[in-house]
Amino acid sequence: MIPPVASSTLPSHSAFDHQPRTRLVFGVNSVERISELARDLSAQRVLVVTDPGIVTAGHAHRVEHLLQAAGLGVVVFEEVIENPTTRCVENCLRVARSAGIDTIIGLGGGSSMDTAKGCNFLLTNGGRMQDYWGSGKAKRAMLPMIAIPTTAGTGSECQSFALIADEHTHQKMACGDPKAAARIAILDPALTVSQPPRVTACTGIDAISHAVESAVTRKRNPLSLMYSHEAFKLCVKSFPRVLSHPNDLESRGRMLLGAAFAGMAIENSLLGAAHAAANPLTAHYGIVHGDAVGMMLPVVVRFNGRDPQARRAYAELASAPEIAGVTDGLDIALDALIARLESLSNLGGIPRSLAACGVERSKIKMLAEEAARQWTAAFNPRSVTVEDFVHLYEAAFIPRGDGDAK
Ligand SMILES: [Zn+2]
Repeated sequence: MIPPVASSTLPSHSAFDHQPRTRLVFGVNSVERISELARDLSAQRVLVVTDPGIVTAGHAHRVEHLLQAAGLGVVVFEEVIENPTTRCVENCLRVARSAGIDTIIGLGGGSSMDTAKGCNFLLTNGGRMQDYWGSGKAKRAMLPMIAIPTTAGTGSECQSFALIADEHTHQKMACGDPKAAARIAILDPALTVSQPPRVTACTGIDAISHAVESAVTRKRNPLSLMYSHEAFKLCVKSFPRVLSHPNDLESRGRMLLGAAFAGMAIENSLLGAAHAAANPLTAHYGIVHGDAVGMMLPVVVRFNGRDPQARRAYAELASAPEIAGVTDGLDIALDALIARLESLSNLGGIPRSLAACGVERSKIKMLAEEAARQWTAAFNPRSVTVEDFVHLYEAAFIPRGDGDAK
C-alpha cells in the first residue's frame, strides 16, 4: 500500500474542490435567449427580482415580455435596495410565495442577484436568513435560478453566496450553499451600458478589488489564480475605456467577463482584508461598497506586501496586464501594482481618503474591532489583528497618491 504523501510537502494553498455550477452565456443581446434558457430549466412560472433603476432602464419589462411571449407566467419583484437586508428578502419572499413560482431570475447588480438567492433559501428551506449564515446549511433542493447582471461588479452571478445585511445589526451575512448558485448566468454587455457613470466606476473598482484580493488569499489555488489573473487583466485594461467611452460594447464586454471571472475566483479562494475593512465603513457611514474597497485596497496591498509570499503573488498578478514583471524585482512590482490601483481609483472618482467621506478618527477603534470580526479577514494572506486594522484605517486617512497616471 502506498502511504499518503505528507501534506506539508504540498503548498498549503494548492488544494481545491471545484464543481462548475453555472452555465455562462456571453454575448451582445444574449438576453434575447432568456425564454429558451428558462425553458431549459423547465420553467413555467418565473419570479424576476430586480430594482427600480432596472425597471426605469427598461430591462425588467424587456425580460418580462420575452418570457410572456414564450407563454411563461411572470411575476416581478422590483423593490430590491442597495445592500439588501433581511427585510428586503422577506418582502421578496411574500411575493414569491403568493405567486407559486418554479424559477427565479435575479436581474440587476449584486443586490438583485443576492436578494433572489436569499429568497430562494427561505422559499425552499424555510426559516430566517440568519439560519443560512455560513455555508452548506440548506437541506432541501432549491429552485433553479438565472442570473442576469446589469453591472460589471460583484460577480454574484458566479457565486453560491448571498450577501444579506441583518436589518437590525447591519451585520453583513454571507449565506452560501452550492445549491444557491445560479444554474445559468446571462452575460450581455449591452445591458451594462445603461449604468450611470458613477455606478460603472464603483462596480468596476469592486471587480478589480475582487481580482486583487482573491489572488493572494490563504485559499488561493491554481484554479482560482487562473480566474483572478484573467479577471485582473480584463478589468485593468478595460476600466479606463468604459469610463471614457461608455457605449463601447467591446470594453463593456471585457469588464463584464472580468467581473464574472473575479466572481469565479472568489467562489474558489474568497476575499481578504480590504473587504473586511470596507464593510464597517458601509454599515456605519453608508459609504458605497466600491468607494470603501477602493479606499482600503492600496493600503491593504501595501500591508500584505510585507509578507514575502504575498509579495510574490502580487508581482505575478501585476505581470498579467504587464504593469510590471516578476523579473523587475518583487518590490518594484509591488510598488507598480499599488501605483496602478491608486490611478484606477482616482480615475473612477473614488474619494481620496476616509476623511473626505466624513469618517471620524474617534471611531477607528470601533471600526477596527468590527473589521477583525468580518469573515473575509480570516482569509487574508497575513493575519490581521484589531491593531493592524487600526493602522490600515489610519493609513487610509492619508490622501491617496496620484498613482502612475501620466
Ligand atoms: Zn466587493
